[in-house]
Amino acid sequence: MRRRIAIVGGGPAGSTMALELLRLGVDPGDMTILDRAHFPRPKLCGGAITWRGTRALTRLGLVPDHKLITNGLEFRSSLGSIPVRERGEQWVYDRASLDHQLLRKVAAAGVEVREGVTVRGLVPGVGSLGVETSSGVERFDWVIGADGARSGIRRAAELRGGIVGRLVEAVYEGGDESVDPNTLVFDFDPVLEAIPGYAWIFPYPKPGTSGLFKLGIMDGRGRVPGEILRRYTADLAERHGFRLADEKISGWPEHYFGPRVQASREGLLLIGEAWGIDPLLGEGIAPSFAISEYAAGRLKRALDRGSRKVRGYELGFFATREGQNLLYQHRLANMLYDEAPHRWMRVLFSSPALLQAATSGDEAYGRLAHLGPRLGVDLLRSALKQRRLPSAKPPRAPNPRYAFA
Ligand SMILES: Cc1cc2nc3c(=O)[nH]c(=O)nc-3n(C[C@H](O)[C@H](O)[C@H](O)COP(=O)(O)OP(=O)(O)OC[C@H]3O[C@@H](n4cnc5c(N)ncnc54)[C@H](O)[C@@H]3O)c2cc1C
Repeated sequence: MRRRIAIVGGGPAGSTMALELLRLGVDPGDMTILDRAHFPRPKLCGGAITWRGTRALTRLGLVPDHKLITNGLEFRSSLGSIPVRERGEQWVYDRASLDHQLLRKVAAAGVEVREGVTVRGLVPGVGSLGVETSSGVERFDWVIGADGARSGIRRAAELRGGIVGRLVEAVYEGGDESVDPNTLVFDFDPVLEAIPGYAWIFPYPKPGTSGLFKLGIMDGRGRVPGEILRRYTADLAERHGFRLADEKISGWPEHYFGPRVQASREGLLLIGEAWGIDPLLGEGIAPSFAISEYAAGRLKRALDRGSRKVRGYELGFFATREGQNLLYQHRLANMLYDEAPHRWMRVLFSSPALLQAATSGDEAYGRLAHLGPRLGVDLLRSALKQRRLPSAKPPRAPNPRYAFA
C-alpha cells in the first residue's frame, strides 16, 4: 500500500513530525509538507526553548546554528523573584532562522517540501482525505494538521479547540543595567493588574545583529484589549531603558492545550499548537517536539497495521510525561489566571517547595507535575500561618492605565 502523508505546516511541529517518522523508518517519499509561507518566514515568537526542548533537538541530532545559550530563567513579580536553574541549557533562536534550518533538514532527507501552498480545506472521501489547494484537490491517506494557533485543519475537521490567548511582542535595543542578556525574564506583575499572564524580556539573537531583545506580554485568556497589552509592553520597555527597534508592537494568538481539546479523526491527527501548547507560559516549541514524538509513534503503528485510525490518541498522550505536565500547567493556569490569581501569586512567590525546586538545578520547566502535592502543603502552611487562606485580595491597587471593562 502506498502510504501518503500530508503534513500541513512546516513549523517546529511539522518538521519534527517528519524527522520522527523518518527515524521510525517511514519512507521520505511517503511524506509531503505543505506550507503557505516561503522559508525563511517571520514568526512572532520569543524563540526560547527550555531544557526539555533542547534535549529533544539533541536527541534528533539537531543543533541548529545561530543559537544563544542562557543561564536560566527568572520568574519575578513585585512579590518576589524565583531564579530557575534547569538541568541543562535553554536556547534562544530567531524563529525565521530556526524553522528554516529544521525544514531544510527535512528536505535534505528526501521529504518533499512545498512552500507557498495554502491549504484551503479538506474534502472527505472513502479511504482518503482530500487536501484542497489552489491547484485542486489531492488525496492523502493521512493528513497531519501542524498549522499552528489558527489551525484551519482543526476547523475543517470540526474538532473542539481550547482557550485562545492574545500576545503582543516587539524587538527592542538598549536596556538598563538591570537587564541580564543571559536570563529569560518572566514578569508576573500583569496578574496584579488583572491581566491573566506575564510579560517577558528575552535576548534576541537575530543573525548578523547584537544587543537586541524581545519584549512582550501574554494574555492567557484572550480577554484584554490589544491596546492595553501594547501600552503595558511600551511601559515595560520604558521602565528598563529600551528603545523600539521594530516598526510597531505586533500581535498574534496562541492556542492552549486542555483536557477537552480534540486532536484526531479517521485519517487525521493534529500536532503542535494546532492541538495546543502550555497554557501557563505559552511555551510552544518544546511541547511541539514532544507531541511530534508521540504522534509519530502512534501514526507509525497505524501505518504498520494498514489502519487509518489511531484509537485514544488524546488519552494516550495524557499518559505520557509531556501530556501529564501539560495537564498540570492547564490546572495551574486556571488557578493563577482565573480562579484565585492573587492567592496563587502569594503562594507561588513564597513557596519554599517551588523555590527549592527552581534553584536546585535538578528540575526542568514543563516537568513540574510532581511538585503538585508539595505546593499543596505550602498552601496549607501559608493558610495556617495566616490563620486563613492567603488573601484573594490584590496585594496592591491596580494601575488605572491598564484598566479594561
Ligand atoms: C508573541 C509570541 C511569543 C512566543 N514565544 C515563545 C517562546 O519564546 N518559546 C516557545 O516555545 N513558544 C513561544 N511561542 C509559541 C510558539 O511560537 C508556537 O507555539 C510554535 O510556533 C508552535 O509551532 P507549530 O509548528 O505548531 O506552529 P507554527 O510555528 O505556527 O507553524 C505553523 C505553520 O503552518 C503554516 N500554515 C498555517 N496555515 C496554513 C495553511 N492553511 N496552509 C498551509 N500552511 C499553513 C504556517 O505558515 C506556519 O509555517 C510564542 C508565541 C507568540 C505568539
